[in-house]
Amino acid sequence: MSPIQQLVGAIAQYQTGSAALTRIQEALSLPAEPTSRPAPLPGADAEPASVAFTDVRFRYAADLPFVHHGVTFTVPARGMTAFVGPSGAGKTTVFSLIERFYDPEEGVVTLDVRPLADWDLPELRSAIGYVEQDAPVLSGSLLDNLLLGNPDADDDAVRRVVKTTRLDGLVARLPQGLETLVGHRGTKLSGGERQRVAIARALLRRPRLLMLDEATSQLDAVNEAALRDTVADVARSTTVLVVAHRLSTVTMADRIVVMEAGRVRAVGTHRELVGADPLYAELAATQFLAADDSPEQPVN
Ligand code: ADP
Ligand code: MG
Repeated sequence: MSPIQQLVGAIAQYQTGSAALTRIQEALSLPAEPTSRPAPLPGADAEPASVAFTDVRFRYAADLPFVHHGVTFTVPARGMTAFVGPSGAGKTTVFSLIERFYDPEEGVVTLDVRPLADWDLPELRSAIGYVEQDAPVLSGSLLDNLLLGNPDADDDAVRRVVKTTRLDGLVARLPQGLETLVGHRGTKLSGGERQRVAIARALLRRPRLLMLDEATSQLDAVNEAALRDTVADVARSTTVLVVAHRLSTVTMADRIVVMEAGRVRAVGTHRELVGADPLYAELAATQFLAADDSPEQPVN
């Protein structure tokens, strides 16, 4: 009887094991538990770039006065650098030179310690996400507007970028979500929303360097906080340059480059500069835009 009992026992064990295996297989086929970890940024695997200007002298034409009179600064890879200074100081021109819309007359601009002149132009441009001042929202769906940055972006990339730029609230509110028509013939977006759409569009290109020329329009407190948090998030994995007009952006910068009349007059953190640079202290006290509590007027 003993061999038969052993066999019966083995069959019972096999059946138990088989049922357990089925349960394991079922568990493995369940969707993954959602985790509280934030979704990785779309640019997270794009290596952040460093930038440097060395004695850059530039004018827009030979018969026009110089706009940069020997601009020098360095920006390490990753983190946020804010450019501040009076109107006409040459801040936006810094971005135009990095995009290589123009070449300096003297001096060198480098990305990754490599002079821009040595870069293949399409390679350079694809490394940079440039959000120009008052970037437009075009007629079409919100999704169309985002995909302008990268028509090949998949749903997952779009979803993550929408989250990073705090546009998820807007998407949830819109009648057809991402398919809702916006811009001229559709739902009007506020200035803060348009700015975040422009950032989302730039992020979908997974830039190694994000340049943001902040809009000068006032934002309500909610939009200002959303913009600040977005930029702070992005700066954790990408190099971010901002021409800043808002105190909330400036104070969180890792470094601030104070420009005046085509020169860099000081570099430091908000805390350092308030005590050390009278022009910066004055800008901080009177010039930077602050959020008010009034709702923004939708434009466009
Ligand atoms: P900021 O962004 O600090 O206000 P800009 O870099 O836009 O300053 O401009 C610096 C100077 O260059 C200003 O005097 C401006 O008028 C001039 N400028 C800017 N863009 C052009 C251009 N495309 N052609 C000629 N002059 C320009
Ligand atoms: Mg400007």
